[in-house]
This record gives sequence, C-alpha cells and structure tokens, in this order.
Amino acid sequence: MNLQNSELLRSTNLIDGKWVAADSGQTLTVVDPANGQRIAEVPRCGAAETQRAIAAANAALPAWRALTARRRAQLLQNWNQLILDNADDLAQLITAEGGKPLAEAKGEAIYGASFVEWFAEEAKRTYGESIPSPASNTRLLVVKQPIGVCAAITPWNFPLAMITRKVAPALAAGCTVVVKPAESTPLTALALAVLAEKAGFPAGVFNVVTGNPAEIGGELCASPIVRKLSFTGSTAVGRLLMAQCAPTIKKLSLELGGNAPFIVFDDADIDAAVDGAIAAKYRNTGQTCVCANRFLVQSGIYEEFAARLAARSAELKVGPGSEAGVAQGPLINAAGLAKVEAHVADALAKGARVLCGGARHARGGNFFQPTVLADVTTDMQVAREETFGPLAPLFRFETEAQAVAMANDTEFGLAAYFFTRDIGRSWRVGEALEYGMVGVNTGMISNEVAPFGGIKQSGIGREGSKYGIEEYLEVKYLCFDVR
Ligand code: NAD
Repeated sequence: MNLQNSELLRSTNLIDGKWVAADSGQTLTVVDPANGQRIAEVPRCGAAETQRAIAAANAALPAWRALTARRRAQLLQNWNQLILDNADDLAQLITAEGGKPLAEAKGEAIYGASFVEWFAEEAKRTYGESIPSPASNTRLLVVKQPIGVCAAITPWNFPLAMITRKVAPALAAGCTVVVKPAESTPLTALALAVLAEKAGFPAGVFNVVTGNPAEIGGELCASPIVRKLSFTGSTAVGRLLMAQCAPTIKKLSLELGGNAPFIVFDDADIDAAVDGAIAAKYRNTGQTCVCANRFLVQSGIYEEFAARLAARSAELKVGPGSEAGVAQGPLINAAGLAKVEAHVADALAKGARVLCGGARHARGGNFFQPTVLADVTTDMQVAREETFGPLAPLFRFETEAQAVAMANDTEFGLAAYFFTRDIGRSWRVGEALEYGMVGVNTGMISNEVAPFGGIKQSGIGREGSKYGIEEYLEVKYLCFDVR
C-alpha cells in the first residue's frame, strides 16, 4: 500500500472523539487475503469499550438532534466530498484487506459516497403530515423524530459502502451511531472515521469499535440505550442478533444472505444475458449478497448460453486485486475457499459437468478458478445455499411456471434476475418472483436512489432511497385540543 494520505491508516478506534487502543492493549491482525501477509493491527475491544462508545453516542445525541437538518446535511456533504477526494487511497485499503480488484474498490468508494450525498439531501425532507380530525375540537399532527442511539454491524464484502449506507441516513435523521465493522476489514471503517472527524462531526456522534464480534455485538444488542440495530451479514448471525435484541425490544434492520436466481428464457437477448451473468456472478469474486447463485436456463437456449458463459468466464484474469487487468481477486479467507470447493465437489458427485474451472487456481492461497457447471439439479447443495464464490451452476427448465417455482423454492428473497424479450412475460415474472429486488434484462441493480433489501429470510427493512431514512425515524402523533 502506498497511500497519498497516510493519516487514513489507523491502528486505534474512534470513541467519543478520541483515538484509543483496547483497554487490554490487545490487537487483531488484519491480513491481505491475496497473500496472507499481515497488513496492520487494530484494537481488540470488548464490552467495556463498547459501553463507553454507547455512552458517548448518548451524550452527543441531544446536541446532534437539535441541529437543523440543513447543518447536519452540510456536515454530511463535507464527508461525502472527503470520501471522493480520498477515493484512490480508500480503494487501496479496500483491496488490501478485502481482496477485490482496485477498479471495483474505487467503484465501491464512489458508490459508498453516493449514499452520503443522497442522505445529506434527504435530511431536509423528513416530512410529517396533518390528519383531518374526526372531532371538531382537535387537530392531529404527525412528526418524524430520530430514533436515538443506533448500532451498525457490517460485513467485510463492502467494507465502505455498507457503513455509509447505514451511518449516513442515521446521522441525517439526527441519530448518533456506534459502528462495529467486520474483523477482516476494519481499516476501511477507521479511514471513514478519520474522514468523518475531518468533516466536522462532533465527538461521540460517530464511533467505531473493532474487536471481538460476540462481545461488542452482545453489548450493542443488550444495551437499553441503543434503540436500533442495523445489521448486514449472514442470516445465521442476523437471527442470533434478532434474538439478542428481543429483551430490549429494539428496532432492527437486517440485510442478510441471498440465493439469487438468474433466469434466462429462450426468447432472451443472449448477448445481454451473458453480459448480465458475468456482472451478476463474478463481482467481488462472487462474494456479494446479490450475486447470482443459481442460473436457471430454458432448454432451447441452454447449450448455447452455457458455452458462451463458460468461454467468457474462462477469460477472466485471476490474481491479486492490486495487479493490473485483474478481474477476479481471492476469496476472503480459507473458509470461503473451502465452501466453494465443497459446493463444486457435491455437485460433481451428484452428476454435474464442469464447463470451465472447477478447482483452486494455480496461484494458490485463496484463489479459485471462475467455474461454470452444467446439468446441476435441485438436490445439490448449490440449490439451497449461498456459495459466496465464483461458481455459476446451470439448472435446466422447460416452462415459465417451472422457472418461477424453482426460483422461489428457497428460504431467501433478496435479489433475482431474468432475461426475456417478451413484455408480457417480463410483467408476469417480475410480479411472481418472491424477492425484494428484481433485475429485468440487467445484472446490475444497486444504487443509492432505489430501495435495497430482501424479504423472507433475507431480511427486514430497506436501505438507500427515500425509504432508507425512515428506518432511523420514529413516527410521533400529536393531538391538540384547540378549544
Ligand atoms: P457474518 O454474518 O459472518 O458477519 C457480518 C458481521 O457480523 C461482521 O461484522 C461480524 O464480525 C459480525 N458478527 C459475527 N458474529 C457475531 C456475533 N456473534 N455477534 C455480533 N456480531 C457478529 O457475514 P460476513 O461473512 O461478514 O458477510 C457475508 C454475508 O453477508 C453473506 O451471507 C451475504 O449475503 C451477506 N450480505 C448481505 C448484504 C445485504 O445487503 N443483504 C450485503 C452484504 C453481505
């Protein structure tokens, strides 16, 4: 790493406006997933430091919520500009600790900043309403107020954007926050905190605590001061956190795992479908929650689509994200690699056919070849579980009804994609898919202006868009007797 702004590389946490180590002095080692080498150490904090961060956020709340929305918006705009100004350095940090290709990492910095800009604007539009009263002597008013102290627990696969997508609407609404980033990617979170401090947020408004997930998470969930938890990560951890939040009846936003179907009908534009498949499958080495996990292909187009997807997949250059021309980086760690390997082995044992890849990459370490498997069936593990890696399994279907039934046959409901040139079918299938987000003839759906989120066991709530700020607001009803 060769940062222009060396201030961004921090080895301490931001709690109550001070940069501090763990009480114990213990640290967590951050490693580069491309080579396993140590990059840095960050504090291994636990319950005590988390309690102090919560107390700081609580102390900062009255003054922060009392600011005008315009003032909060100005500070958010400062932060947005600083993220954009430092996008190259932030990209280097994201690639170093998360492994994604540098161009994708820079794209994430810009995408992450777009939430800050969007919610700076939305801060000024948290409108209430008046309701015609059923009685002549009363007037009824609804106002929106910040929920209070919020906690955010974020994953490693978008170490920057998953933080801004939560923190920006929280701050815009007038809430204060404590962030716990993923243990593999804390450096990007700390760099965001450096920039937030520079942007002018008062002490205690934005706190970052790194370290032991169960201890920090346990404290955030148990604290009666924390009124809301926003979590992005696996369904298993989301379920656990939901249970831990039950005693204090906390509000929750959960952005959890997916099992995205990518349906290609016989009438699809095959060039567009292959482009869409590459975009929806291999971004971040297949490690995004909206990555296509199951390709459902109609029999008439199956062999051609399979051959073309395999040819394009085989061309993707695999290597460290910092190397020029690399399209696919490493998996985040050995466990991530083992999961992809297990899904491939299970499918092959049950009769699938390798069209390209199928094994670890010659580069060793956490690298796996972009892989396309044909003749995949619903009894295989890939039909049920999120692979979170560069594996494209191709299932076959005959009819539209069958495709919809296969697509919906999962406990998840985050993103789905389908390709067709039939306008009637695009409405029918779009309506029938049990998913929070559906891409029609496109493999790229995420942006700051549209509501991102899932149904079923993929989560609760929406991020981005005008809906995103509502997650950090309470509705208050005021009834005036005007006699
Ligand atoms: P993960 O659930 O293992 O970790 C997510 C976060 O939870 C991390 O910060 C981790 O430290 C923390 N955590 C883990 N155990 C905890 C505990 N006991 N208490 C408190 N916190 C704890 O998920 P991951 O591997 O980092 O991320 C990948 C998963 O996230 C995938 O399933 C993916 O689909 C999902 N994801 C969803 C979205 C979305 O918007 N729906 C976006 C990105 C990733």
